[in-house]
Amino acid sequence: MPNTPHIILKPLKEKAVKRHHPWIFSGAIARVEGKPKPGALVAIYSSEGEFLAWSHYSPQSQIRARLVSWNERADPESRDFWRERLEGALEGRRPLAADGTTTAFRLIHAESDGFPGLIVDQYGETLVAQYLTVGMEERRDLLNGLLMWMLHPITLYERSDIDIRQKEGLAPRAGLIQGKEPPKYIEVLENNLGFLVDIQQGHKTGFYLDQRENRARLRQAVERRVQLVEPPRVLNVFSYTGGFGIYAVAGGAASVTNVDSSAEALRIGWQNLSHNGFASAAVKDIEGNAFEVLRTLYEKGHKFEIVILDPPKFAFTQKDVQRAARGYKDINMLALNLLERNGLLFTFSCSGAISAELFQKIVFSAAIDVGRNVQIMDRMTQGIDHPVSLTFPEGDYLKGLICRVVR
Ligand code: SAH
Repeated sequence: MPNTPHIILKPLKEKAVKRHHPWIFSGAIARVEGKPKPGALVAIYSSEGEFLAWSHYSPQSQIRARLVSWNERADPESRDFWRERLEGALEGRRPLAADGTTTAFRLIHAESDGFPGLIVDQYGETLVAQYLTVGMEERRDLLNGLLMWMLHPITLYERSDIDIRQKEGLAPRAGLIQGKEPPKYIEVLENNLGFLVDIQQGHKTGFYLDQRENRARLRQAVERRVQLVEPPRVLNVFSYTGGFGIYAVAGGAASVTNVDSSAEALRIGWQNLSHNGFASAAVKDIEGNAFEVLRTLYEKGHKFEIVILDPPKFAFTQKDVQRAARGYKDINMLALNLLERNGLLFTFSCSGAISAELFQKIVFSAAIDVGRNVQIMDRMTQGIDHPVSLTFPEGDYLKGLICRVVR
């Protein structure tokens, strides 16, 4: 074994590493040798002394090491190592960028793209980075340099102001990294619809890019109703800056009601409407707690042909699952009550801790409790710019169902 810092695993703990799972939890470690600094490159050895992988060391986190390569001869501190990874990630996004109708997507999706702890989103000619782990933080200059050199953005901005950095002992950080100060809103295209994105104050890096394909499906469902039945009334719950609502208007919805607790998000939603020339569409906003708003709509006898439920993450860890399941069930019951016969429910969970199977059970028990007969018409997941690595199933977080309320 080398003189450089390394980790020796407990017996039998090499199994997951050999299957290229990118995390090592503190409980799997027998010894840390050589006093590595936070973020240092550390080799991983089995209890028998066999080299297993290279990792970034996170002494403060329960995820004690994030694996970056399983090849002993790789040079994970070199620029070429990361350049190759970035090229791989860019190739995966090419189909999305090809025809110019979409200019906003995730370029680097952390572990799933071989960059544990790094997210980079592209909004037109602006890049927004989130450095989430001490390993990536240590290589920030190298990676920022690489992004500038390979992609030539006008602006490279940072939104590392996210709670999970605390688990790595890192303070939040946000602001310009390189290039021009960004404008208040960046204009992007998504499936040829225009959106204003506030990369400085918006949620995440500014926009929920993972729902792009599902927003397009909603539009399709609206268009089909317009052609075959009648223009639907659409209730867009947890609307943020209007994403699904704009697609519904574009598809010819009779009306759209957006519900969100963030006044600022709803305000940008209005700007997004006029930005697309939809200022005169029948769109209404309700600012408030969705649970209360939906109850009130029901009590007042409102009905809709399509309801979208895209709540924030209710479960952050396995410990939250039961409480989160209750929340998902309640909101789905409220939504089902508001749907007309033959109405459609687009319902989502972005909690990784809630499996697709559990989510379906939750929606099922919501339907039983409100006495509605419900069919699954289709299943949804995250967009192709949020790939799921086969070695990292945890990356498969977004799940959705398109349900039809038969009666
Ligand atoms: N559907 C959106 C993304 C939704 S993100 C899109 O396509 O862009 C979740 C949203 O839920 C956020 O905008 C957040 O402000 C809102 N939110 C969180 N808790 C809420 C609550 N209790 N009631 C209403 N809105 C809430």
